[in-house]
Amino acid sequence: MTTNFQESQERADLRTAVAALGAKYGHDYYLKQARSGGKTNELWDEAGRLGYLGVSVPEEFGGGGGGIGDLAAVCEELAAAGTPLLLMVVSPAICATVIARFGTGEQKQQWLPGFAGGEVRMSFAITEPDAGSNSHRITTTAAHDGDGWVLNGRKVYISGVDEADAVLVVSRMADAKTGKLKPALFIVPTGTPGFEYRQIDMDMVSADKQFGLFLDDVKLPREALVGSEDAAIAQLFAGLNPERIMGASFSCGIARYALDKGVAYAKERNVWGTPIGAHQGLAHPLAQIKIELELAKLMTQKAAALYDSGDDFGSGEAANMAKYAAAEAAIRAVDQSVQVHGGNGLASEYGLGTLLSAVRLGRIAPVSREMVLNFVGQHSLGLPKSY
Ligand SMILES: Cc1cc2nc3c(=O)[nH]c(=O)nc-3n(C[C@H](O)[C@H](O)[C@H](O)COP(=O)(O)OP(=O)(O)OC[C@H]3O[C@@H](n4cnc5c(N)ncnc54)[C@H](O)[C@@H]3O)c2cc1C
Repeated sequence: MTTNFQESQERADLRTAVAALGAKYGHDYYLKQARSGGKTNELWDEAGRLGYLGVSVPEEFGGGGGGIGDLAAVCEELAAAGTPLLLMVVSPAICATVIARFGTGEQKQQWLPGFAGGEVRMSFAITEPDAGSNSHRITTTAAHDGDGWVLNGRKVYISGVDEADAVLVVSRMADAKTGKLKPALFIVPTGTPGFEYRQIDMDMVSADKQFGLFLDDVKLPREALVGSEDAAIAQLFAGLNPERIMGASFSCGIARYALDKGVAYAKERNVWGTPIGAHQGLAHPLAQIKIELELAKLMTQKAAALYDSGDDFGSGEAANMAKYAAAEAAIRAVDQSVQVHGGNGLASEYGLGTLLSAVRLGRIAPVSREMVLNFVGQHSLGLPKSY
């Protein structure tokens, strides 16, 4: 039996092509757009036209027919070029995957060709003001309304709603047999009456903004419910693992970007007659980050390979671990790169200071560091549940 740690030539070629696209735009473009409140639409649209955002959409709907590992490679390469696309973590990764796997024939026809070319953007809304880490407590509720549904509730920190055509909303509804509440996912077009969103001011420099959602008697047709009434738990699993894998690849990409910057500067800057990278005080942390980054990448690839092989449950542990490791590597990479740059590390011209808050996101979302540790303690180690 062999285990192959080498990505396929096809995936390697995809990485090279995406890296070239990211380099064409570059971090200066990203920062200019983010700082001015602009969007990265040109980059998104070009990536869509080239098929990069649709690599994991089934071929019959115009996509590349690849897996989440391919999409994660695209996400990582764009971030490594200094052009991270946060919406990739939700729109093609969660929403397109859930619809491709569980949507009705009509939903697939309606949405997947748009995901394949990047024309469609969909946000994903699970977090609520009183139910962040504890998604069992969400209170957004769907009730039968004639032939359709009516949705009421609130969501917070939902990314990219102003750019989205629709939001995949996680809610609850009463089980017809038991009367107990169970999850249900709905596709809510952003123009639906009763659906409102307000931007949340964040101390993050990001082209993609965060929003609070207000759903007040939002009336939806019967076909807004994703798949069948009984499949929502499987749908959530199918969506949340790709989200974690993409979160990990997003962090790995930013870590690579920061490490590359730090290493280049350490080779070039000279204040004692040798490049500052000759001092082990700087070289060792950079080397440590390189190791941690490679480990995080490996776990991300393992999680993606398990997911793409159809092992939803098995990929959960690896996806959690990958997300944890990648977020920690990215935080250390940015922090150390700032340190290597000295005063320049915080100068706007060098574009590193803004990454300090961007990488902290990886420790909080889509699942926090502490909830990953809870998962590993309980499920991987068999320790008692602590909460
Ligand atoms: C920039 C950004 C973008 C986001 N985008 C989206 C999005 O598109 N869609 C979406 O649905 N959500 C999104 N989120 C929300 C994100 O998923 C949540 O912020 C995250 O899940 C944590 O929830 P919370 O903020 O309510 O924190 P809380 O659940 O209130 O947790 C606060 C702190 O307590 C800790 N904690 C909680 N419970 C435990 C426990 N049992 N044991 C130990 N520690 C615990 C947490 O780890 C955390 O450190 C986004 C958040 C941010 C910041």
